[in-house]
Amino acid sequence: MSRIAIYPGSFDPITEGHVSIVNRGLAVADQIIVAVARNVSKTALFPLKERIDMVTETFAHNPRVRVDTFDGLLVEYARSRNARIILRGLRAVADFEYEYQMANMNRRLAEGVETVFLMASPDTFYVSSRLVKEVAALGGDITGLVPEPVLSRLPAAPSTDD
Ligand code: ADP
Repeated sequence: MSRIAIYPGSFDPITEGHVSIVNRGLAVADQIIVAVARNVSKTALFPLKERIDMVTETFAHNPRVRVDTFDGLLVEYARSRNARIILRGLRAVADFEYEYQMANMNRRLAEGVETVFLMASPDTFYVSSRLVKEVAALGGDITGLVPEPVLSRLPAAPSTDD
């Protein structure tokens, strides 16, 4: 039986931090469904379709990674996809409290669906969607921090100091 994992998030936009979690997650799951949240509490920069497109293009070469959207209870969504693993990434201590609460709540809601955490890799632990957007908006170079499909949509603003 193939092990399916759900990797849920806002992906506004997907970063190399997310890519690293997916690639390493393939060591514990046969198939990963990157589940893009339809409703994000924070105001999203990219509309849902674009967030999906960027993830789809990023993993176009990998048949073990699929892209989908979800809303409502994550554990219900996981069940509907026959997934028993929820994949999450941990960067700093700051991520821990929220993730710990969510993992325990989800286990209470659905026994048998386990949250599996992967530690951020040393080269992307400081990367977040929020920071990448801020840096790009200020004209900073985000090459290497986001996959190519994001780079072409979120280019560093041209310098205006002439
Ligand atoms: P959410 O809106 O649910 O926080 P995100 O799209 O921001 O969704 O992130 C999805 C998951 O990816 C979260 O578990 C987050 O901690 C993890 N993540 C984000 N950036 C990184 C990174 N640089 N390294 C490892 N994990 C990360």
